Amino acid sequence: MEACPFCRIVRGQTDTRILYQDDLVTAFPDIRPIAPLHFLIVPNVHLESVNAVEAGHEAALGRMFTVARRLAETYHVTQSGYRLIVNTGPHAGQSVFHLHMHFIAGRHMPFRA
Ligand code: AMP
Ligand code: ZN
Repeated sequence: MEACPFCRIVRGQTDTRILYQDDLVTAFPDIRPIAPLHFLIVPNVHLESVNAVEAGHEAALGRMFTVARRLAETYHVTQSGYRLIVNTGPHAGQSVFHLHMHFIAGRHMPFRA
């Protein structure tokens, strides 16, 4: 059994609803949403975190932003706005060690970095 939950989702080994998938990235709903819209966008390749990123991953990482823009259009939040978050390591509270971008939208988000 695949240990990484996001690798299992990427490979279609769960009943997670896939919002978008191509050769480089996969998007699906966060299981514990913190806003009306809360999705995760992940590279199909297993990378533990940003700390594992190398130049060869740039196509997948760039695609993650393109998919974020497409999700914003699909869910009509291009104008109202959305937040993209990539938690890395303990201080950021990273809990799943397969690099992922949170796409969060649908409410005002008062906290600012
Ligand atoms: P992070 O703190 O950035 O590592 O966030 C990990 C996120 O993954 C959390 O928001 C979890 O709710 C979410 N999550 C964990 N397991 C799953 C899963 N099987 N399917 C969808 N989302 C998940
Ligand atoms: Zn993985």
